[in-house]
Amino acid sequence: MALIELRNLDKRFGTTHVVKSLNLDISDREFLVLLGPSGCGKTTTMRMVAGLEQPSSGEILFDGVRINDVPTQLRDVAMVFQNYGLYPHMNVFDNIAYPLKLQKYPMNERKELVDRAAARVGLQPFLTRMPRELSGGQRQRVALARAIVRNPVVFLMDEPLSNLDAKLRVTARAEIKNLSEELGVTTIYVTHDQVEAMTLAHRVAVMNDGVIQQLGRPEDIYNDPANAFVASFIGSPAMNLLPVQVIGDTVRYEEGPELSLRAPRQGRLTMGVRAEDMQLAEPGQGHLSASIYTFELLGDSTMVNLRLADRVFSIKAPKDLRLARGDSVHVRLPQDKLYWFDADSGERLRG
Ligand code: ATP
Repeated sequence: MALIELRNLDKRFGTTHVVKSLNLDISDREFLVLLGPSGCGKTTTMRMVAGLEQPSSGEILFDGVRINDVPTQLRDVAMVFQNYGLYPHMNVFDNIAYPLKLQKYPMNERKELVDRAAARVGLQPFLTRMPRELSGGQRQRVALARAIVRNPVVFLMDEPLSNLDAKLRVTARAEIKNLSEELGVTTIYVTHDQVEAMTLAHRVAVMNDGVIQQLGRPEDIYNDPANAFVASFIGSPAMNLLPVQVIGDTVRYEEGPELSLRAPRQGRLTMGVRAEDMQLAEPGQGHLSASIYTFELLGDSTMVNLRLADRVFSIKAPKDLRLARGDSVHVRLPQDKLYWFDADSGERLRG
């Protein structure tokens, strides 16, 4: 069992402030995803939990015990990295067995544990192969098997799928989810891919610039973003955000027409709406009209992209719709599906 607590965790590299007084509790058996753009401090946070990086200040606790000064090998964490970190001169068996060798497990026990871990990830036929003789997906599974071989209390995974092609990534993602549910090990998973975060996590911590912007269940992060950054980072396509001016009961973007919509405040705001929450309307029945910038076929749906206020505004439409660039469309904005944000701070405004 492992409850992980990060208390005012701070990290500076020289003058660069990378992680800023971060507080986070991760429950026993929880799958927590740290999600954010490149350079936001995700990996550094995870490396501090692993003991590979020393915090500048703050505390890390496992089950209530401060482990800041406990060396990595005594923290009982297993790691899977983006490049897998396999030893090229060792075969698959020896790579998986390596943590057991370090812990001086007897040979017969090593064999039993390696066989069991390899079976879990479907690697039994490959135990005598060298890493160079494996596909990317198989290498990734060797790294997973090495992580699970000695039943660690914490898994730390840093972009473990990013070297796989798109199709394999979906399969490997399902394998990781299945494995983590089966093993019930507390997991911290770092990614910049919001789909991975949404599909894998019990809770997602969205990070930007060394700060957690929002912590919540995937559906809450998606449906109830705390600020414009989270709204713009989650979802594919991301939430449409439009700078507007609110005067009375009307909303106006740039030189566009006045839209009769209710906003929580007057003045300069950012209006948000998700692509799937808008409808194309008959002439005269929409809130705004524009000509199509691009029209995309996605198979299960189509995407109508407009250019508004110097931004691309996307509307998800039925799969059998056929339109073309330059066609004029009318769009309805459902009042109850609109999000509002402070134009300067990006904070969510609730009506
Ligand atoms: P990515 O997804 O690109 O790995 P990340 O969110 O994981 O991004 P980190 O790797 O934690 O980000 O890096 C955060 C910042 O800290 C970056 O600006 C990076 O250049 C800097 N940084 C990381 N490690 C060091 C180091 N050892 N020395 C100096 N700066 C570092």
